[in-house]
Amino acid sequence: PELSFDVYHDAPRLKQHRRALRLAILTREPDNYSTRSLIRAAESRGHAVEVIDTTRCYMNIRAVGGEVHYDGRKLPHYDAVIPRIGASITNYGTAVVRQFESMGTYCLSGSEGITMSRDKLHAHQVLARHRIGMPTTAFARSPKDSGNVISLVGGVPLVLKLLESTQGKGVVLADTKNAAESVISAFRGLKADFLVQSFVKEAAGEDIRCFVVGGKVVSAMRRKSSGDDFRSNLHQGGTAEATRISKRERDTAVRAARALKLDVAGVDLLRGEDGPKVLEVNSSPGLEGIERASGKDIAGLVMQHIEQKVAPRKPRSRTR
Ligand code: ADP
Repeated sequence: PELSFDVYHDAPRLKQHRRALRLAILTREPDNYSTRSLIRAAESRGHAVEVIDTTRCYMNIRAVGGEVHYDGRKLPHYDAVIPRIGASITNYGTAVVRQFESMGTYCLSGSEGITMSRDKLHAHQVLARHRIGMPTTAFARSPKDSGNVISLVGGVPLVLKLLESTQGKGVVLADTKNAAESVISAFRGLKADFLVQSFVKEAAGEDIRCFVVGGKVVSAMRRKSSGDDFRSNLHQGGTAEATRISKRERDTAVRAARALKLDVAGVDLLRGEDGPKVLEVNSSPGLEGIERASGKDIAGLVMQHIEQKVAPRKPRSRTR
């Protein structure tokens, strides 16, 4: 995408006494809903925003004055960077984010948070360490331990998840021990890493996406699968509607985002009979579903958070 540096003059005048910011969105999808929504929110608040293809960033790494280059030139200093790093380029994407961080730029999702949340094993271990509710989860490396991990999560029915699954595509429900064992051996045959999880039956094909911004749940939606699938987050079919959540759910979502060091996060949880159970914390949560379900300007709230982080309103100076 073109780099544009000429956005300032047609920006509407700022009502608040805040300075206009120079922002960059790191994404390979300049035209998707989330990107467009963020651009609109930034520009309507008087900020200049550039869309940068993460995979076209290149860097020189050195002790002093690291830089990020793009298409033959050095990128300017940004007040904040909004990473929207796709799962297929997590490694390179987080390296780019790390470079911006080392240059002192505020990154809406930090490299550490993106890295932890993308790795399901790591994320579950961090959540557990913070005593955040989640389905009982186990994993093992050796085929000799298949039976052992099945009993660790309390037997069948259970859920098997490929570590690199997204949108529910690598998630399988096994009703019997036989089914569980054959799926495990199939995954092993493909040399794919997976985890084993107790099945939260009472969630009944529904999950709750909590959108967290700056330590608050700004909106929540209930997602329901189409038909009798137990996975509620499949992109095909399924419905989403705004929902009210309990104080406990709110606290759980906020704590999960904080544990994974994310200022903005989409926390997915199941309603278990003994409380909320976190499934996943997403570091680049999509805006389309949540804005449509809630009718709220979530991108605007994200911008507000960035402003507070990098350009806090100065208290009126007192005359001495
Ligand atoms: P992915 O990362 O591929 O999206 P998830 O862990 O989010 O995988 O699981 C996909 C969907 O499957 C969830 O949205 C939820 O509806 C359902 N699901 C996942 N794990 C469980 C579980 N342990 N018990 C009940 N339902 C589950």
